[in-house]
Amino acid sequence: MNETARQLITALEGGNRLQKNDFLQILTHADAEDVEYAKSHANDLRIKYFGNAIFLRGLVELSNFCKNDCLYCGIRRSNTAVVRYRLSKEQILGCLEQGYAAGLRTLVLQGGEDAWFTDERMCDIVSAVKERRPEIAVTLSLGERSKESYRRLKEAGADRYLLRHETATEWHYAKLHPAFQKLSNRMQCLEWLKELGYQVGCGMMVGSPYQTTECLAADLAFIQDFRPQMVGLGPFIPHHETPFANEPAGSVETTLFLLALVRLTLPKVLLPSTTALATLHPQGRLHGILSGANVIMPNLSPIDLRDNYTLYDNKANTGLEAVEGVALLDKELSSIGCHVVVDRGDARY
Ligand code: SAH
Repeated sequence: MNETARQLITALEGGNRLQKNDFLQILTHADAEDVEYAKSHANDLRIKYFGNAIFLRGLVELSNFCKNDCLYCGIRRSNTAVVRYRLSKEQILGCLEQGYAAGLRTLVLQGGEDAWFTDERMCDIVSAVKERRPEIAVTLSLGERSKESYRRLKEAGADRYLLRHETATEWHYAKLHPAFQKLSNRMQCLEWLKELGYQVGCGMMVGSPYQTTECLAADLAFIQDFRPQMVGLGPFIPHHETPFANEPAGSVETTLFLLALVRLTLPKVLLPSTTALATLHPQGRLHGILSGANVIMPNLSPIDLRDNYTLYDNKANTGLEAVEGVALLDKELSSIGCHVVVDRGDARY
């Protein structure tokens, strides 16, 4: 046990605000025992606030067209090897019905930044979903848009928005993105979303190229201060058609530690055990939950198109990672005393 790290983890758990340097101390000094301590206390907090319930979100991958060129991402615009597709409104409503029948009460509409999905088209889709199934929560994850666009989508019925900040460190952001993509704009978007009354999610990859421990400390400090209702956090995994093809994947163990620290920082946060984690480790999903995660996002995209939305190599999209596998997923969760619930799973703050 490392005394400095343990003291700071305990302070975090006690509701104290930490400095970026404190997070750095935790990340640099924690030994295996401290990591276990953080994970088990994060798991206790998950149980305290959510019991054994795991919330589900059906993930519909609307489009893999993207005007951006994130160096890590398999659907970046420079990747000419990918077959591009976009879903029609009818296909999306079909996904909605399939998800609804499986007990999902949140629909996540995610995609590349595809100009075809204008405000008009997107608002029409969101309101059609809400009209068909008013009890469904709609989460959007469509990247950076204008404030006016976010306002119109909210008015059309969108409840939540996921926009990972990717890294809170300017120089690191510049290593992961071309110059025309700016961290300042992404951060501005997060502020707008919050201001407009969305439940907002930010987050980052663990082990992305050039990431240092300082970067992760800055991410944790940002999450603490921004107080998002959701945090998306998974390991970086290389994609063979990107400039990062030969970079190593992020560490599962570090990802679990980060999940635990996020749960300790924001006890009531909605925190997915991500597909990326399940892709890297057969028990990744369960370990994520045992480290404080309380959400799983089964893939709800049309089966024949799923392989085209490949953000990273070997991305899992069937079995327990998909809507067809919800019953099996529930069975897997029962091995750690958890179960899936038919619930929107809204934020508690
Ligand atoms: N266009 C939307 C959705 C992006 S995809 C947006 O800009 O928000 C959702 C998330 O997948 C990204 O935010 C990123 O953190 C993650 N991701 C992309 N490529 C990845 C990779 N190679 N490994 C792990 N996660 C990745």
